[in-house]
Amino acid sequence: MIDRTAMYIDGTWTSGSTDTIPVENPATEEVIGAVADGTAADADRAVCAARNAFPGWAATSRAERARLLSRLSEGLEKRATEIAETIAADVGTPMRIASRIQAALPLTDIRSYIDLLGEQAHEETIGNSLIVREPAGVVAAITPWNYPLHQIACKIAPALAAGCTVVVKPSEVAPMAVYLLFDAIHEAGFPPGVVNLISGYGPVIGEALVTHPEVDVVSFTGSVRGGARVAELASRSIKRVTLELGGKSANVILDDADIATAVKVGVSNAFLNAGQTCTAWTRMLVPADRHEEAVELAKAAAEGFSPGDPLDPETKLGPLVSRNQRDQVLDFIKKGIDGGARLVTGGLAAPDELGRGYFVRPTVFADVDPDSVIAQEEIFGPVLSIIPYKDETEALAIANNSSFGLHGAVWSADRVRALAFARQVRTGQIDINGGAFNPLAPFGGYKKSGVGRELGRLGLDEFLETKSIQL
Ligand code: NAD
Repeated sequence: MIDRTAMYIDGTWTSGSTDTIPVENPATEEVIGAVADGTAADADRAVCAARNAFPGWAATSRAERARLLSRLSEGLEKRATEIAETIAADVGTPMRIASRIQAALPLTDIRSYIDLLGEQAHEETIGNSLIVREPAGVVAAITPWNYPLHQIACKIAPALAAGCTVVVKPSEVAPMAVYLLFDAIHEAGFPPGVVNLISGYGPVIGEALVTHPEVDVVSFTGSVRGGARVAELASRSIKRVTLELGGKSANVILDDADIATAVKVGVSNAFLNAGQTCTAWTRMLVPADRHEEAVELAKAAAEGFSPGDPLDPETKLGPLVSRNQRDQVLDFIKKGIDGGARLVTGGLAAPDELGRGYFVRPTVFADVDPDSVIAQEEIFGPVLSIIPYKDETEALAIANNSSFGLHGAVWSADRVRALAFARQVRTGQIDINGGAFNPLAPFGGYKKSGVGRELGRLGLDEFLETKSIQL
């Protein structure tokens, strides 16, 4: 049993609430540890520590912030295997992905801001005004469970680089690796109060943070429902709010594309982290006359994702994070079947070979109606919908027929055609022919996928205020 019931406030591990929240291993259904079920009083202590630390941290040099972030990245690198194993245990991410993404990506995020701090501060002159950028203040960072460290690193690295102080409130569902991050923060030697960690439920300590008068910026990643509530509460005291929310991204395979590659990469993308990925390409759009070919390719690719033990290095598909998440995904699969979509592989039955764990078979639906529930709602599980289209105009209309706009893909033998198509999709990111993830490119959503951007220079801007000084 891992006991992480202390919170990190004002530079020390401190006990607060004596109530605890159990943390489960979703592959075994066993409780593996506990974190504190924090109260509004704990949130208040953490915010006050961050407020007290703010003037000192805001006055530090860029070189000093870069030095401490470098020490943090060294501490994380040292713990990379332990982080991957911890996330395999509480999120259920297979080790091969946990090492490559869950443990490695936070390092990339942090290092990108160390590099940015090494560049000249961005100041400009407009007419007789000098435009300067200043740290925005105390940040509340509220994060989900699916990529627990990456989502925190995307917030604390730019916030600290900007000169802000931070209170982190991770998800209560799979929080264990966050404590390793804070062990590394402690070891790095950040001044007390600059980065704080509290734990507990969203409606209790999350809302206490968002309504706290000493919090200036709220940076939230999570569901649309949670984000809407956070934005509503934060608006009452006119806080700056960034929201990174859900997605229902379209993978558009144009008629001249290499369909075998596009389907294979598309299926892997949709099932990454058991489909619990906000950017997952969960709608695959294919020309109607190649629909059957795509379905056969997708079926074969999906069946290669047999569910298994996340600690086995061969496993590509782990369990869903919790019983609740598994039940919600099964409910969507049932809606797909009842709604008349063709079930190609997967479905409601639990995998026979595994006696326990919140596993769902990799599931592919074909002939999906673009207006149906499974084509419109974020399922957050290993469920892919294949949607046929008759021409490029219809493909674009279907791609944009979504209340989300986070990510997407276009495949074509003609890059100019693919780029012209990509420009018309209403989404914050889109990859052409499998274009690689760029940790410096702004990341965020159109429509209900969110407000604001993370990563790179724009990610830093979220934590800076702008001042015009007239000369
Ligand atoms: P969630 O909204 O349930 O929880 C996210 C965080 O918000 C948790 O820490 C939770 O405790 C907290 N929270 C919940 N209610 C709150 C409230 N009323 N006030 C303050 N805080 C509150 O989301 P989740 O289930 O943890 O995560 C899955 C969702 O996150 C999916 O929709 C996914 O698409 C989205 N997501 C988005 C991105 C992105 O960058 N756009 C990345 C990853 C996940």
